[in-house]
Amino acid sequence: MAFKLPKLPYDYKALEPHIDAKTMEIHYSKHHNGYTNKLNAALEGSGLEKKSIEDILKRVSKHSDAIRNNGGGYYNHSLFWSVMSPDGGGEPGGKLGKAINDSFGSFEKFKEKFTAAAGTRFGSGWAWLIVRRNGKLAVTSTPNQDNPLMDVVKTKGAPILGLDVWEHAYYLNYQNRRPDYVNAFFNVINWKEVQKLYNRALKK
Ligand code: MN
Repeated sequence: MAFKLPKLPYDYKALEPHIDAKTMEIHYSKHHNGYTNKLNAALEGSGLEKKSIEDILKRVSKHSDAIRNNGGGYYNHSLFWSVMSPDGGGEPGGKLGKAINDSFGSFEKFKEKFTAAAGTRFGSGWAWLIVRRNGKLAVTSTPNQDNPLMDVVKTKGAPILGLDVWEHAYYLNYQNRRPDYVNAFFNVINWKEVQKLYNRALKK
């Protein structure tokens, strides 16, 4: 088995009331687990089993649709769990806070842009905060399980914050009210982890 479902860093009900326990349980134990198992099945005999997930995604145009969809699903959800926390919310300070101000004008402007990216992604997909190759921040969105690491995506960069806007991520609690879900997400963002990912991305 090449890839393992990462351990959830908190229990299913930890993010309530913003994200409910039932959604977390199904999302993690069924959806993320499913992407992980299907990725491993798709990688069998491909010669890619020893590669990192980042290396696989960076050359995803050369691989099968099953690797693209399930490799994206594996990576995206692993990141998603890590950038949320029951102690999350608020605004980042330090270097990341400054970079957000420099790139978007203010934290509020960043939030507006990210919320718009999540809200206007038609159908299923993700909203992202990424570090571009020049070190600048950008807000983007991708369809399905694509992400900004992939060579098939137009605006590439290192994802440091990702929000799942598939209906499976919010429908039980929010039904069709995606904007309410996006707003609630801001109450659980783990800015400490995002800051860590930002520092790591700058060093690459
Ligand atoms: Mn999902």
